[in-house]
Amino acid sequence: MPELEAVIGLEIHVQLATRTKMFCGCALSFGDEPNVHTCPICLAHPGVLPVPNEEAIAYALKIGLALDCEIAPRSIFHRKNYFYPDNPKAYQISQYDIPICGPGKLGDIRITRAHLEEDAAKTIHAGSTGRIHGSTASLVDFNRGGTPLVEIVTEPDLRGAAEAAEWARLLRETVRQLDVSNVNMEEGSLRIDANVSVRPAGSTELGTKTELKNMNSFRFVQRGIEAELERQRGIVDAGGTVEQETLHFDPTSGDLTSLRSKEEAHDYRYFPEPDLVAIVATEAMIAAARASLPELPAARQARYEGEGLDEAQARLLAADPGQAEYFEAVLAASTAPEPRVVANWVTGELTAALRGAEIDEDYGSPTVAPAALAELIGATAAKTISHGSGRQVLAILVETGEGDVAAIVEREGLAQMGGDDGELARIVAAAIEGDPAAAEQIRNGNGKAIGAIVGVVMRETKGRADGGEVNRLIREQLGL
Ligand SMILES: [Zn+2]
Repeated sequence: MPELEAVIGLEIHVQLATRTKMFCGCALSFGDEPNVHTCPICLAHPGVLPVPNEEAIAYALKIGLALDCEIAPRSIFHRKNYFYPDNPKAYQISQYDIPICGPGKLGDIRITRAHLEEDAAKTIHAGSTGRIHGSTASLVDFNRGGTPLVEIVTEPDLRGAAEAAEWARLLRETVRQLDVSNVNMEEGSLRIDANVSVRPAGSTELGTKTELKNMNSFRFVQRGIEAELERQRGIVDAGGTVEQETLHFDPTSGDLTSLRSKEEAHDYRYFPEPDLVAIVATEAMIAAARASLPELPAARQARYEGEGLDEAQARLLAADPGQAEYFEAVLAASTAPEPRVVANWVTGELTAALRGAEIDEDYGSPTVAPAALAELIGATAAKTISHGSGRQVLAILVETGEGDVAAIVEREGLAQMGGDDGELARIVAAAIEGDPAAAEQIRNGNGKAIGAIVGVVMRETKGRADGGEVNRLIREQLGL
């Protein structure tokens, strides 16, 4: 039997952080008292008319451009008909055959479309604890009903659960940096569904897919897809066929339960929304959206890798624009900048020092001035101070807000030992004398034994000695 290949596409709902709802003037809210942000329009009273939110359209254009989508010169709204308590109109205003954003790409993954729609209200299944008049209750909070959403749909280009979760992180980071959504998965402002199928490796046909709904963390996205792939492989290996259905993944038990057999588009009886005119994205609107785009994570990561950072470092910085700009400021202030070394200090030592001091860093007004960190990095690179001493200076910079690295080095007596005064050589000699067994082992070619002597020297010098110089002196004194 040929190996089965995973085929995964994602559908991501992004709640837009506009001031008001998609088609009425109600304010958006999260966590307010239920049913305080409602009006006749979002409660679907008879005879009311929707008015599209201009800000939501501008945000959708930003998302579309960030995902390299073709922008439709003229797109229309459709009614998607379904009956459910979270939807008082009995239809959702969405987009169907002409979405505002057409084919695009993020990283290696093709985007099918990104369209505008309105969110449903929130249903709370209170179960037996929420009995009203003796009956089991479900409650509806209409505050969320009518919130603007952009639904982003990918082609089935993902080939594994981890890859899907990784890509979803990049998407979230990208949308976050556009400043159009809170993209908070726990609060539901970013919701991820996955379409999952398997097929014989090398095949170009698609197998029957199932849809995993509403996984509210990246970890659950990965685990849910893994569980579903395993289930489907089991069915196919046993000679069965996968049924098209919608599934819920329970992260606590790891179980998949069927919610319903999957609807087809014709079940929704889509038809053009007669109460709304087409969205015509003018050149000026598109230009304004384009002008407002920041440098996006994928582009920034590629630029950093081009400057010599490794992939993990580049991705880490690209995911945090504040830290990335700080990194660039330190680099700009450095006299002999080595981007990889500067990135190590910023993402490694500085982050650790800030965490140690329990500082929630705001890189807009950084705790350590970029010039001070640049000077510190320069001093360690020039071996004026050891790396360990550099770390001590950094802790002082973080804690006191001082900016004069040279003064701290002087005051704390942290200048690197070694050089010509012979003090370091004397400490090395004493350490060798103190551990003849280790010295013997080193002479006999046991390279690891040198660590014991280096450790003693570092302790004696309080970390002020340069490790390379200590190693050199030990070998020299042992006649190696
Ligand atoms: Zn309203």
